[in-house]
Amino acid sequence: MPTGDDIVTLNDMINMTIRATTGANHISNRHINSETAAEKGTHIDSLFINVPKKFTQSSQNDQNFTLSDYTSNYNAVNTAESEIFAREVGNEPSNYAFNAQMIKYCELLTQAHPNRLKLKVYDENKLKEMGHNLIVSVGAASTDNPPAIAVLEYTPDNQTGNDVTTKKDKIAIVGKTLTFDTGGLELKPWKYMIDMYYDKLGGVNTLAIMRTLALNHGKQPQNSVIGALAIAENAIGSKATHPSAIISEPNGKTVSVVSPDAEGRLALASAIGLVQNEHNATSIYTMATLTGSVMVGLGNYAAGVFTNDNNKAQDVIKMGLKNGEKYWQMPVFQQHFKNIKGPYSDLQNCNLSSLSDASNAAAFLSNFLNKGSSLVHLDIAGVASLDDGDGMMPKGATGFGVHSVYEHVVSQNPTKKF
Ligand SMILES: [Zn+2]
Repeated sequence: MPTGDDIVTLNDMINMTIRATTGANHISNRHINSETAAEKGTHIDSLFINVPKKFTQSSQNDQNFTLSDYTSNYNAVNTAESEIFAREVGNEPSNYAFNAQMIKYCELLTQAHPNRLKLKVYDENKLKEMGHNLIVSVGAASTDNPPAIAVLEYTPDNQTGNDVTTKKDKIAIVGKTLTFDTGGLELKPWKYMIDMYYDKLGGVNTLAIMRTLALNHGKQPQNSVIGALAIAENAIGSKATHPSAIISEPNGKTVSVVSPDAEGRLALASAIGLVQNEHNATSIYTMATLTGSVMVGLGNYAAGVFTNDNNKAQDVIKMGLKNGEKYWQMPVFQQHFKNIKGPYSDLQNCNLSSLSDASNAAAFLSNFLNKGSSLVHLDIAGVASLDDGDGMMPKGATGFGVHSVYEHVVSQNPTKKF
């Protein structure tokens, strides 16, 4: 059983210390106006880490650790602060973090790093025109809060931005950004609806990873990286998508929307198609609070990993062990592909049996990969937010995956297989 002990280095220990201290110093209190010290939390100005002298000398070789990583690039601090950024945005309820506000966060990030990030927003009309009807169907009833896909693009200095010629994979992190999920016409009971502003956390964490990439420009990935937020609100109303409506995507696949509450996989499917067709992405990661099913198996302790590229999945799991973020690989069998065959359409978004829905969802997403693309799907439903804090993970939005996925992406150098 892997424990992570064998791969945790001094570098990791310092990272974790900085992260734990920064995280412990943080409390989401922006909507608390009273001034009591308990509600405002504590404040730490400085952190001193006593590192043995031999580790500050360039001759030592602990994963090429040098103290300058911390003094010149502020890698660990930037990543820790991005995790807090993810918690702050994640904890905003839907009357603050509505669809247009999520786009605004992307704009602000791009404005802060104009030489490192580019933003392209595909609005509802554009998505309709392009035929990305699945995400449009998810947001159909939310007439004042239309859906969109926002794509942030980070290009390292050594890349031209066009990876077609370099044969390098272009990495895309696609985040489910459901700013609120009522369940649609499969309306959730109040108790299960109350915290559904957390259904955007895959997108929020994606945004935080893009922020880290832009800030940590001294430690660049080998590949271009895009972060795509599949933004929608799943509301009710006369325009809401009916159960069993059949919707098509540009790859020709038709989908029967058996379950209007299984909307995340629909929004992600459109975004997976778009990042491949419009941005040449070939190495796809999805981060999503996708299924209750993954929580049945893994509780609030680990995220489920589903993939057609075992090496990448194992590396994400390893990066998780180094960062206090637990992942567990789950299967995608041929039976799961069978489960999501539609009765009168190519696919259905859900099987009427609720068994193995997390794997069914992963099989569903795989149907939107172009030939040669890889998928590492991270179902963070159980770990993206917590009712009670657990260790370094606080109550509320946790920012789960910001550290491990960022570190995985900067350590990768995948090239095209086909
Ligand atoms: Zn739902």
